[in-house]
Amino acid sequence: MRRALVTGAGGFIGGHLVKRLESEGVDVRGVDVKPLQEWFQVSDKAENIVGDLSAQPIAEHAVHGVDTVFNLAADMGGMGFIENNRARCMLSVLTSTQVLVEAHRAGVDRYFYSSSACVYAAEHQTSPEVVPLKEEDAYPAMPEDGYGWEKLFSERMCRHFEEDFGFTARVARFHNIYGPVGTYDGGREKAPAAISRKVAQAVLSGDHTIEIWGDGQQTRSFTYVDDCLEGILRITRSDIAEPLNLGSDQLVTINELVDITEDIAGVKLERRYNLDAPQGVRGRNSDNTRIHKLLGWAPSITLEDGMETTYRWVYDQLQHEA
Ligand code: NAD
Repeated sequence: MRRALVTGAGGFIGGHLVKRLESEGVDVRGVDVKPLQEWFQVSDKAENIVGDLSAQPIAEHAVHGVDTVFNLAADMGGMGFIENNRARCMLSVLTSTQVLVEAHRAGVDRYFYSSSACVYAAEHQTSPEVVPLKEEDAYPAMPEDGYGWEKLFSERMCRHFEEDFGFTARVARFHNIYGPVGTYDGGREKAPAAISRKVAQAVLSGDHTIEIWGDGQQTRSFTYVDDCLEGILRITRSDIAEPLNLGSDQLVTINELVDITEDIAGVKLERRYNLDAPQGVRGRNSDNTRIHKLLGWAPSITLEDGMETTYRWVYDQLQHEA
């Protein structure tokens, strides 16, 4: 890999991926539809392009001259966003497809697509006492409405480009990626960033209460962004054509995520449960048997360590804003 395209480079994972690739000596082009001043990270060394990759000429230009494409661009967010913006989430199919088609046409060596744990059938996720999700559980298909259908369709398109055209396409199903330098307010944030923000606000304001979406008993696993980057690179370089889970298997309830964040912040907050707020599935965890077997690796950064960095970063942002 010498020259790579990162789509969604102005986003959370894309911004980190640009830095990681540059640290390995890769020459990077980053593209995002957001104005440059809204990118989470802007690398001085990268070629940074603002453009809408659902438009064919932009996608064609973006893939020109690169050997590897990391397609991370999507219109997405946490549960609060995806449950209320199903059409917008599904419209990302235009971007996913346009970039795939142009990458194939340009003859790039390798293509990576960021799918999601939201492809898994809801019937496997109705209880907090979860059986971790295996890759084959995505079928028969009944993914998260809107967002999950787009991801499942786009990862399936990768499979058929590989089968029909001999195109090298790699797919990871991300499980709740979190870390610093990402969205922590405004409606698209996910649970670790939202809870970091609420705990930091409580510390800074002295109002020691916190609103929790749902009853706090819903379970999830959360994957620190450094593990995600490592997994993206390992999967992209591998010869594994089937989608792989890329997620931590450290299962916690949302209440336990709040406990961890409170311990880091050194506070105890009065919890108020909002049972009307979006909650997503009841329980979800990643089964890492296949990634262990095929790559001899799986995410290992603990939630306690990852939340330490995440909370401190969110706290600093709020302190600067104050
Ligand atoms: P993000 O929203 O921070 O980044 C996505 C970026 O894509 C945004 O900056 C957005 O402006 C850009 N984008 C959207 N449409 C575009 C278009 N047409 N042209 C150019 N840029 C466009 O999200 P993220 O958390 O960094 O996620 C990156 C990828 O990983 C996404 O595909 C997402 O669906 C997937 N994913 C993320 C998670 C997670 O927990 N963060 C979980 C599962 C899957």
